[in-house]
Amino acid sequence: MKQAKHTEKVLVSACLLGYRCRYNAEVLEKRNIPEPDETIIPVCPEELGGLPTPRSPSFFEDSRTGREVLHGNGRIVSETGKNRTTAFINGAKKTLEIARDVGAGKAYLKERSPSCGCHTVYVGESQVPGIGVTAALLKENGIQIISVE
Ligand code: SF4
Repeated sequence: MKQAKHTEKVLVSACLLGYRCRYNAEVLEKRNIPEPDETIIPVCPEELGGLPTPRSPSFFEDSRTGREVLHGNGRIVSETGKNRTTAFINGAKKTLEIARDVGAGKAYLKERSPSCGCHTVYVGESQVPGIGVTAALLKENGIQIISVE
């Protein structure tokens, strides 16, 4: 009897797969991400949070990044000064919901994004150590996050 192939579901930042969802609508070169036994579920937390593409860039207001923002102790603002914290948190929650629905235990995420960054994010035009809002929420809920440049 033929055995069904086991595939692990993994979330991937949609922009890494060539989707036009970046703030400036730029299409990135598609990364060769999955392992042979992985099934990709593309997600863009910022679009899931209701933000349009294109959109003005967003960044953390100060050194309080994803973890703090998730717990009401920091803000994300747009280049034009709009408070986008709610949209980012909503996008993170929807991404977690998707991960739970499909049973994903791992996420490949775009480094430096205020949603998806795993180690580095922006405060204004400066890169600082920190974590994006979605990356922080996934990590808090036991999902392995893997940084992709
Ligand atoms: S880095 Fe994340 S939030 Fe930003 S465009 Fe890519 S998938 Fe969307």
